[in-house]
Amino acid sequence: MLKFVCVNFLFLSVLISHAQIPQQIQVDVVYLASDELEGRATGTKGENLAANYIVHRMKSIGLSPGNMNNWYQSFKIPANPHQSNSIELTGKNVIGYLDRKAKNTIIIGAHYDHLGHGVVGSMAPNDHHIHNGADDNASGVSALLWIAEKLAGYRKLNHNFLFIAFSGEEYGLYGSKAFMENPSISSDKITAMINMDMVGRLNAEKVISISGVGTSTQWKNILEEVKPADFGFNYSESGVGPSDHTSFYLKNIPVLHFFTGQHKDYHKPTDDSYLVNYNGIVEIANIITDLCMKLDPIKNLDFQKTKDENKQMAADFKVTLGVMPDYVYNGTGMRIDAVLEGRAAMKAGMKDGDVLIQLAGKDIKDIYDYMKILSEHTKGEKVKAKVLRKGIEVEMEVEF
Ligand SMILES: [Zn+2]
Repeated sequence: MLKFVCVNFLFLSVLISHAQIPQQIQVDVVYLASDELEGRATGTKGENLAANYIVHRMKSIGLSPGNMNNWYQSFKIPANPHQSNSIELTGKNVIGYLDRKAKNTIIIGAHYDHLGHGVVGSMAPNDHHIHNGADDNASGVSALLWIAEKLAGYRKLNHNFLFIAFSGEEYGLYGSKAFMENPSISSDKITAMINMDMVGRLNAEKVISISGVGTSTQWKNILEEVKPADFGFNYSESGVGPSDHTSFYLKNIPVLHFFTGQHKDYHKPTDDSYLVNYNGIVEIANIITDLCMKLDPIKNLDFQKTKDENKQMAADFKVTLGVMPDYVYNGTGMRIDAVLEGRAAMKAGMKDGDVLIQLAGKDIKDIYDYMKILSEHTKGEKVKAKVLRKGIEVEMEVEF
């Protein structure tokens, strides 16, 4: 605890000369993305330091422990059976609660873990310098704390708000999956989940990507009401994407994901805090605070499934299976994180967790083999597929 006070004090003295920059946002990002935290990989000392810091901040804002009487929710990341040196990891979500004695709750989330030294998941796989993850996702955590502080100023609200800093995201959304398997708020009492993953690189044109807009028929109207005139909102419908909102969408909860876009430092040691647009984070956090206030009086936000989950992939291929691949799976084959409603894979009988090892008579070593095979087929064709389900080979026929 003493350490935090010293670190904050040091940063504040640096910041006094830059009065126009929102100090607290910068303090949060700079500390979380500092080398001292060694890239915040799940299950490491750096993750633990980050978690302690987030609890310290949530306490000072006036939140209460959000997992029963606990700030933390622990979960296991199983060892990878295909990697002989892989070990089981224990990660922890940090959960703070703004209890307004309401019936329903809105969840605000941002993952705080990152890639450590980039042994797994790095876009610079041979560079084992610390991957500081300033944009990914110290930025989202700083926004989450900012929103928490603003909402805590309202004594009367029609919703409770639960703020979750997830861990295990980079290794496969483990923290958010663990929360939905064992939620501290029962899922039928969750009105919506709003996720921020990478909100630190707002561009000069102020265009942000908002996905999940198709998960409720009401989202677009609400978003248009809070959109500042100088902002561009780039909407996409899908509730499925490579971040934690997916875990909530798959349990039929309306979701939104805010994102300022890809860049060349993504998942590299160069994703550093000096490249972050701090004022941009504040602007986005204020938009989300306004959104929360618009959402607060709504009693019946509807939910709908979205149909364009694999839109990005579909742009490159004439056919898709309709699955969400596990992008961080290291074993042989392509592990399926989620089989999507009503699509080819579901019709063929594939299940979440299956590892696709053969398609159209060709072996699949990794996701790239899978993509290559997809590009060779057209709609209506029938091919054989082979998956590993709990270690047992299962064959099926897929119609694209
Ligand atoms: Zn991220």
